[in-house]
Amino acid sequence: MSIYKKRPDVIIKNGKIVDGSGIPAYYADIAVIGEKIDYIGNLDGVDAGMIIDAEGKYVTPGFIDTHTHSDSSIWINPEAQSSVRQGVTTEIVGNCGFSMRHTINVPFDKGGDGIVCVYDLANTDTEIPKGSFANVLKKMDKMGASINTAWLCGHNDLRVIAKLFTEDYTEEQFKIMEDFLREAMEAGYIGFSTGLEFDPGILSRPAEIERLASVAAEYDGIYTSQMRDEGTYLFEAIEEFLNVIRKTKMRGEISHLNVKYDNGIPNDYLNKAMDMIRSARNDEHLNVYTDMLPTCYGTGCAQAMLPPWLYENGWDEARKILASDEGREKVKKDMDRYWRFLNYGQWDRLLRIITPHMPEVTAMSFEELCKATNRDPCDCFLDVFMKTETIEQVRSIEMVGTMFREETMVESVVKDPIYLWMSDSYTATEEGSARTGNMSDYMGIFHFLIRYVRELGAISIEEAVNKATYRAAKHYGLLGRGLIAEGSFADINVFDLDNLRIEATFTNPCRYCSGMDYVFVNGRDVINKGKHTGIRSGKAIRRGKM
Ligand SMILES: [Zn+2]
Repeated sequence: MSIYKKRPDVIIKNGKIVDGSGIPAYYADIAVIGEKIDYIGNLDGVDAGMIIDAEGKYVTPGFIDTHTHSDSSIWINPEAQSSVRQGVTTEIVGNCGFSMRHTINVPFDKGGDGIVCVYDLANTDTEIPKGSFANVLKKMDKMGASINTAWLCGHNDLRVIAKLFTEDYTEEQFKIMEDFLREAMEAGYIGFSTGLEFDPGILSRPAEIERLASVAAEYDGIYTSQMRDEGTYLFEAIEEFLNVIRKTKMRGEISHLNVKYDNGIPNDYLNKAMDMIRSARNDEHLNVYTDMLPTCYGTGCAQAMLPPWLYENGWDEARKILASDEGREKVKKDMDRYWRFLNYGQWDRLLRIITPHMPEVTAMSFEELCKATNRDPCDCFLDVFMKTETIEQVRSIEMVGTMFREETMVESVVKDPIYLWMSDSYTATEEGSARTGNMSDYMGIFHFLIRYVRELGAISIEEAVNKATYRAAKHYGLLGRGLIAEGSFADINVFDLDNLRIEATFTNPCRYCSGMDYVFVNGRDVINKGKHTGIRSGKAIRRGKM
């Protein structure tokens, strides 16, 4: 009989608790009252609103995905279907410099309730009203979602707001970027993100990034970066990132280190990159981590293959250039950037092109697309752009491709203490407008657990859970998250590791995972006996607030 006298809303009994801190799993019962964990211990004989017998199962904190782009998809998938079914209860959104973009057709327009959440990047005449970043959080509060979201303020968005499409900024433009960044940080954004291989951040100089990051640093924000180069200039790009951290002393994250082999750098690049980050942590005491999709393949932004001059006079002009033989040849000769291996002719590594506006392209593998259109790969690739009508649609085209030659390379990174788990995904649905066609949107954390814990035994369950919960929560400054502890938010998963199943395949990618028995978000059962209950108990997390 327990000494515990209160009546909890939920009791999870007999589970094996992997608490997120990395300590060995232990057996205990958990009582949840309201949105918090109230008690951990023996709850024999205590009654509750809901009692779950977790015998033979793991009980872990809800997973924290440190890098997603669901800032665009959550509005059409507030139930966060693909994420929460994997036990992801919190996503860090607004990565790669994009935080107010939409890549999938968002069904509410600007204004309406006085809130601007999304805008058309192509329309540079659009004035983004002050208060927009704060209003995104308010809009999230009002809509409600099945997961928590924590927001980064994106550099590319700030540049668009300041109408800055050149290398150098004017003081007036900087002031606009600074004001909007301050507004975001004051509203509770958790930091500042850059995407320096993408338009228009690609044009910026390091001094601009340092200056803006210093603003976010005043609020104890984190700095995350899709670096300026992941190929030929990888090491210079890591140095550029570290210089921001040296200068600002911020917590920092190098986003998706799934840098590609044969991409203009010697093949020991990965070890060397990891060494640089490790030494920044150990020798210089900089608080930096890295993350990546734990698979041999990864996703990328297709536009980043194109030379910026192609679209400097607008997308209509770019289409004309791509339609002329001469123009197209000029583009083909100027594609030594980003996924450079494509420029070297390794088109077999481009697995699929994903375009929300051209489902017939998304439906096929890239190889099938080339065959169906009877085009050589480079022309087939450029044809997709030529048929795309707006720069906004161009920005939404994604590629899935082979990053690593061998799985052992992935394994060496995910095992490393400097690695945090992430999916680089959009929360997606099996059907409807949030169906994305990208397998990794449907399986990221399951692959991490199934492959590296269950099948290969490369990392322990405690270590894997730590990388996807408490270590991430601490680094990103999410208070009260990522830990099974009294007083923590009751973001809790209950599952049997042996029962986790990935249903998505390359040919049939839009399938939810199965095997997660219960997922609690702020104390509410969003997944109950494997089924989504429709409950939207997630919060828009504010920096520094419980
Ligand atoms: Zn990303």
